[in-house]
Amino acid sequence: MKLIYAVRTMAAVGILTALLTQRGAAFTQLARWHSDEKYHYLESNGLPTHKMMVGITAWQQQFPLPQDFTGGNAFRIPRNPVMAANPISAKSALFSGAIAVAVNGVPIFNPIKNDGVTDTLLAGELDEFGGHCGRADDYHYHIAPLHLVDTVGVANPIGYALDGFALYGLTDPDGTTPKDLDSFNGHTVNGVYHYHATKTYPYVNGGLRGVVQVVNDAITPQPQTFPIRPAGDPLRGAKIVGFTWPGPNKYSLEYELTGRRYFVNYQMNADGSYTFTNVDPGGASTSQTYQRPAANPALYTVNSTGLATGYVTRVNGSQQTTEQFVQRTGNAASALPIDVANGQVYLILYGSNLGANANGTATVGGVSTQLAYAGPLTPFNGVAQYNILVPPSLVGAGKVDVSVTIANRASNTVNVTIR
Ligand SMILES: [Zn+2]
Ligand SMILES: [Zn+2]
Repeated sequence: MKLIYAVRTMAAVGILTALLTQRGAAFTQLARWHSDEKYHYLESNGLPTHKMMVGITAWQQQFPLPQDFTGGNAFRIPRNPVMAANPISAKSALFSGAIAVAVNGVPIFNPIKNDGVTDTLLAGELDEFGGHCGRADDYHYHIAPLHLVDTVGVANPIGYALDGFALYGLTDPDGTTPKDLDSFNGHTVNGVYHYHATKTYPYVNGGLRGVVQVVNDAITPQPQTFPIRPAGDPLRGAKIVGFTWPGPNKYSLEYELTGRRYFVNYQMNADGSYTFTNVDPGGASTSQTYQRPAANPALYTVNSTGLATGYVTRVNGSQQTTEQFVQRTGNAASALPIDVANGQVYLILYGSNLGANANGTATVGGVSTQLAYAGPLTPFNGVAQYNILVPPSLVGAGKVDVSVTIANRASNTVNVTIR
């Protein structure tokens, strides 16, 4: 069965690539596939070629900008998905980040937004294609991109959940209406599980029936997005009525407010910065340019009190042992006090937003200390690992704050407990 799945998937990938090429100028987006033994990789700039944002009536003043979902920040789709013992429902979790990716390289998020209750479609937050922009000006869908059925044909998936199971449109590959969909919008046909789109909630895969890793309520790893400017505020009463591409890397969004038309024209400049120009109904304009900043390092936490996630490595002469500093009881996590009186103790912490190996410093309990390693946690794309020497002087300190600074950029503060 695994072989059949793989063959079918590769056929779909080949067909999609061909279609994208045929459509030529009208379909010039970046959506590239490649594979190794474990994963299909989907690289894109995160932007579709259809009009974006038109029809939105609850707008946060975010604008679609290209993202860099390439290389180590590409989508990874497991080639041999595995059914999970405890599937994760998107009704109660995964409100952060993508749960699937459309075959055009646009992320698909939980249809419920990150407040955990709002149905984005019913709230008027989505455009005619089911998408909108997040706080990093990152375009994504919250419902199934059914328009892609016209591109790939009913026999092929319009996307993949991040567990690796395919997402089809409203019909099965043979054109029949799917029967017996489970609460995740999925079923097994000829021994292969897959999801379907629906016109009502959950619209897409209603969670992940397959094995995925979840960190901070987001499937990990998945492509990261980086904002170039502060997040926008809601513009009450505005309705987006137009979106055009006046030229390469140029975009124009038109909205209506109290019966008058406004434009926001924006473009990427040669140096990678972005210039936004607001044009008011009288034709007067104001401009602002934003540089793309490097991302700050981020440390992951396991609970609402900021407890770090990772483990401890203790070095005693040539002996090296591993210990936990987080106690898990069901879904709850609490701190296990760390003994720093024996040997050299390193905190091995997980985080994000760090591409290459980097140099920096760390602070534990207010004491500056050695950051022995800061870099990717292979093979988990997008996840960083930080190895931090715990100063022995902190014996008996109790709960202490931990942070790292790389290239003058400080991380968030997390904590551990030292006995
Ligand atoms: Zn969203
Ligand atoms: Zn089906």
